Amino acid sequence: MKNIVILGSTGSIGENAVNVIRGMRGKFRIVGLSASSNFRKLLQQAEEFGVKHIVVADKNAALACRKVAGRGVDVKSGEKGLVSLVSETNADIVLCSISGMAALMPVVAAVEKGIDVALATKEILVAAGEILVPMAIHRRVNFLPVDSEHSAVFQCLCGALPCCKTTWAYSPYIRKIILTASGGPFAGRKNINWKRVTLKEALRHPRWTMGKKITIDSATMMNKGLEIMEAMRLFCVPFEKVELLIHPESVVHSMVEFFDGSVLAQMGMPDMRLAIQYSLTWPDHLKSAVPKLNLAKIGKLHFYEPDYARFPCLRLASEAAKAGGTMPAVLSGANEVAVNMFIKGIIDFSDIWSIVEKTMHKHSLRKRPLLEDIVETDRWSRETVVKIIKSGR
Ligand code: MG
Repeated sequence: MKNIVILGSTGSIGENAVNVIRGMRGKFRIVGLSASSNFRKLLQQAEEFGVKHIVVADKNAALACRKVAGRGVDVKSGEKGLVSLVSETNADIVLCSISGMAALMPVVAAVEKGIDVALATKEILVAAGEILVPMAIHRRVNFLPVDSEHSAVFQCLCGALPCCKTTWAYSPYIRKIILTASGGPFAGRKNINWKRVTLKEALRHPRWTMGKKITIDSATMMNKGLEIMEAMRLFCVPFEKVELLIHPESVVHSMVEFFDGSVLAQMGMPDMRLAIQYSLTWPDHLKSAVPKLNLAKIGKLHFYEPDYARFPCLRLASEAAKAGGTMPAVLSGANEVAVNMFIKGIIDFSDIWSIVEKTMHKHSLRKRPLLEDIVETDRWSRETVVKIIKSGR
């Protein structure tokens, strides 16, 4: 039985991870759970699985949680609490589904302790992957992709070359990684007034039910831009080796092209439990509750080239990926704040990319940054976004 810590267990990926573990009784013992502020759901999960160590990131929510937590349940808070949850609970694996840069220090703590990380938080690979991945290689820690596209790539590679043991060991065998994208809610629609797109429209994803931030990122296609960099870091390949393909049915989750021209694809229902489970049971494919794929019923699969002109976030992410250094952290940090401002109704939909672009233009790039430079760059980019918005753009 493996000891697991789930960071962000009350969010959409976290809850699905708990469901997956519930379905595999006897394989995992949950030794730690964390939530941003939803402590009631967190306490329910802790009680069901007999978890004694929990973290509520928000300090006020943690205070409220302590008042109602059962005896013997240790409630910590903040980044320090998350770091100690990872490093002091004897975990064999950490599943990280905290949204955004808040995941950075807990994941660094896992890597430093030599604990494998099932990683759903793409933002930290984007912003700090140039540092995190060499650290993980040095400590022989595996990053197991939870993102469905990257899980698909990993599954194709493991199937073709079972000899390699980590995501980055496959790098010399890859001619191309082809990431598929559903295209989000606006892919097939013509004449959209981007300024007037409402929150409700942007949250209407055609295939996947996910958290708000990633759903907005899917609507701007920034999500796919971030996934290019996530693939570059996880599989140690350059920008030129990652290609995008729009595939509205979301059945082919991604593909790998080998040097002989052979292309392997991984297919399945668009259900995030599949990738979550594989990140935990790798290299085994075990029984799951995911519905079976019925290709005869689906009938046709379609593929298109992405439209970089319609989705400026794809162009911006490509620029950041090519620049490297601190630029991906600027893009990701600025995007996180801008998306949040759009969700709150402070800015328009099309402001998301214009603000990210302005922030990138203001930044003086630093090549080969240290971890503290990334943290500082992230802070700078968030402040810059707020300044740009205050100054009326
Ligand atoms: Mg994805």
